[in-house]
Amino acid sequence: MSEIRVRFAPSPTGFLHIGGARTAIFNWLYARHHQGKFYLRIEDTDQSRSTDEAIEAILDGMRWLGLDWDRWEGSKGDALRQTERFDLYRQKISDLLEQEKAYRCYCTADELAERRKVAMKAKQVPRYDGRCRDRTGLAPDHPYAIRFKASKEGKIVVRDQVKGEVVFDSSTVDDLIIARSDGSPTYNLCVVVDDVAMGITHVIRGDDHLNNTPRQIQLYEAFGYPIPHFAHVPMILGSDKARLSKRHGATAVQQYRDEGYLPEAMLNYLVRLGWSHKDQEIFTLEELVEKFALEDVGTSPAIFNPEKLLWLNAHYIKNAAPPHLVESLLKQLNDVGVAKKRINTETLNRIIPALQERSRTLIEMAESAAYFFLDEIEYDEKTQKFLKPENLEILKTVRKTLDDIPFEHDPLLEALKGICETMGLKLAQVAQPIRAAITGKVVSPGIFDVLMLLGKEKAFKRIDFQIERLSKGEP
Ligand code: GLU
Repeated sequence: MSEIRVRFAPSPTGFLHIGGARTAIFNWLYARHHQGKFYLRIEDTDQSRSTDEAIEAILDGMRWLGLDWDRWEGSKGDALRQTERFDLYRQKISDLLEQEKAYRCYCTADELAERRKVAMKAKQVPRYDGRCRDRTGLAPDHPYAIRFKASKEGKIVVRDQVKGEVVFDSSTVDDLIIARSDGSPTYNLCVVVDDVAMGITHVIRGDDHLNNTPRQIQLYEAFGYPIPHFAHVPMILGSDKARLSKRHGATAVQQYRDEGYLPEAMLNYLVRLGWSHKDQEIFTLEELVEKFALEDVGTSPAIFNPEKLLWLNAHYIKNAAPPHLVESLLKQLNDVGVAKKRINTETLNRIIPALQERSRTLIEMAESAAYFFLDEIEYDEKTQKFLKPENLEILKTVRKTLDDIPFEHDPLLEALKGICETMGLKLAQVAQPIRAAITGKVVSPGIFDVLMLLGKEKAFKRIDFQIERLSKGEP
């Protein structure tokens, strides 16, 4: 078999959409599984939306997910941009005109709109009636668009690797505009010209493009090009079965990054939206490359479930090697007010294992890690329950007892046990006021871990602060 070549062809929208990311992942896995090529083609022909930032946002999302792409030899940069290729599209359009497979259409926008209205009123599907196919007598300098002469005979069969055979009646395919009146080429024309030029063997994309496929197949035929394999992947829906949109929460991949998700969790989650392998939920990247097959892509739409994504994220956080989390955690810590320069990475590496078990996102982890680094901490309202005058004696005793013992696990344990015995208290009754005083929270990793990680100086400063406050009778 010849080399497999696939592509991800986003139109820049300002961010990498969850649905687009899933399409990219499927293509990437398919290419890597078959040791083929995965290209990135930026469909930036709508120049008003295709700013450099909008394009960069897509690349950024791809890089974050770890989806590296191959450079196609015909492109100027790493990713192919359609705006580089207008000359080629124009050439192809003029070839079709010359071969009388396309024609000039002089209908104005107003005329077309009027005919549309009439068709809608008569409850007909508005289709261009082909009246300019044989129109003569108008000078070529009169404004015109160029339409493709669609074949009206027979059926167009899409042999789809996900949907099976999908048959379209050719009579429903009208004469597509391939060049607008300003000369700019349109979407279906560019896609076909590029997919052929790049030698794309498999077009894997969202099934919102299925209706374009018969038109594209007719273009392939008109050019005399071989038709690639198609695989149209069902959409991703929200929990209410409507197409995934902002109403359902974040739809941009980058927003999940900013909310403290790990790329491997995101990738694992997205790949399972529409693809499955037995009932396995968690996959390493190597496993995905090995197991991914289009035959296992389902035919019904997938429902986006934020809870499950969160669950997967917690799993990946729990199982990560601490150094792997450091860089992203530093960013999150910065967002919760702890500047990078205050953080000792070695200390952070020791703190992370204490927090991995209980953090579902890196934001949660940063919020729990912040009190290790801040000079002044904020106290949750809930801590009032433990930081009350009745507990002043406990805090004083703790402060005194710990003064001359090293902050190591066994000595700390012995010391607290001793306090419990003398005061007739349970360990939790002593630990909770300490925890509240030194972390500002009512939940944290084990008290010995927190004391050791925080160190004597910071711990004492915070305990002293509470002793002083409570001594003055402050609530
Ligand atoms: N540019 C199209 C989109 O963003 C994709 C076209 C294709 O995959 O054929 O939806």
